[in-house]
Amino acid sequence: MGVLFTKRCVLCGTLLPAAGTGKAMLCSDCAAKVRQTYRCRHMPYVAGADDAAAALYYTGKVRDAMQRFKFQHKQHYADWFAAQMLPLLAERLDTWQPDLITFMPIGWLRGRERGYNQAELLARAVAEPLGLPCRATLRKRAFTPKQSEQKDAAARQKNAERAFLPLTNAEVRGQAIVLVDDIVTTGATAEAAVRLLREMGAARVYVLAAARTLSKSNKPS
Ligand SMILES: [Zn+2]
Repeated sequence: MGVLFTKRCVLCGTLLPAAGTGKAMLCSDCAAKVRQTYRCRHMPYVAGADDAAAALYYTGKVRDAMQRFKFQHKQHYADWFAAQMLPLLAERLDTWQPDLITFMPIGWLRGRERGYNQAELLARAVAEPLGLPCRATLRKRAFTPKQSEQKDAAARQKNAERAFLPLTNAEVRGQAIVLVDDIVTTGATAEAAVRLLREMGAARVYVLAAARTLSKSNKPS
């Protein structure tokens, strides 16, 4: 019956004996790697946001785990990613003073295929221990072309700006909003969502991501 209580490391899949907490966990090697390599030390910049933070670099085993979280039904990874994000938010509570946690929407069709929105799972897992409300505020326009299919930064920006619409009855006026996303890449998508939240009347908008992509200037050694 021990099999009921064994867990695999979120990052490398090693069996973790007798880890009976039910939470997603790390082996000791990966825990060291997170501390030394994967922990994000250069916060992302999102134009238009009041501030932005990411927990991890989107590289190596973190990238692989994120892919499993998003595409291979590893919803329970949300616990682990959220646990990496939670300290970032906790230490910014005094400056950010958030009223509401919200999340990047995914398209209706993708949501139906996948059965969950990974950013929503992260947002709920981050909001809950801090007693903050968590609600959807944005929706994705149907049939938006993929950001990865855009040929340059200008095309990504234009495409991203068309991608989001306010959710009916979303009330953000005068509030400080934390927008949760899984990965910040070029920032164009996050920027578009931030801009829309501002247009909807949000007083301040912050971005909190599980991971950010690396650029040449901030590669961990
Ligand atoms: Zn491991």
